Amino acid sequence: MSGTKTTVRCGECRTLLHEDPGLTEKPPCPECGSTRRDVAVEMTATANVYGSISMVRVREYVTHDVLWLSLSVVLTIVGAVVSTWLLSGWASFVISLALAVVGFFVGLRAAVRVIDREHFGRLR
Ligand SMILES: [Zn+2]
Repeated sequence: MSGTKTTVRCGECRTLLHEDPGLTEKPPCPECGSTRRDVAVEMTATANVYGSISMVRVREYVTHDVLWLSLSVVLTIVGAVVSTWLLSGWASFVISLALAVVGFFVGLRAAVRVIDREHFGRLR
């Protein structure tokens, strides 16, 4: 909402006068006889401001899949122990190394990256 309000007062005694501020010939003030005027223009305006805030909390972490982790441990440690027990020489070394490499890649699958997003409501 907006608007203007104009008030005219006597320039000498400040008496409020009910006259058009655009008059070229000012009548004398009824209190003091002065023709000086003090014109005040008051303007009012209203502005509406709207805002909003939204927040997202992101939590990222790594957890382990127990099944894949167990399989990795079995392949690397138990596989190496059993192959050295059952085999000997280069065959034992190669089988142990192969099981360790496979166990390593199986171990990579055990790591599970979790991204947890939590949205908060808008504030107005
Ligand atoms: Zn006056």
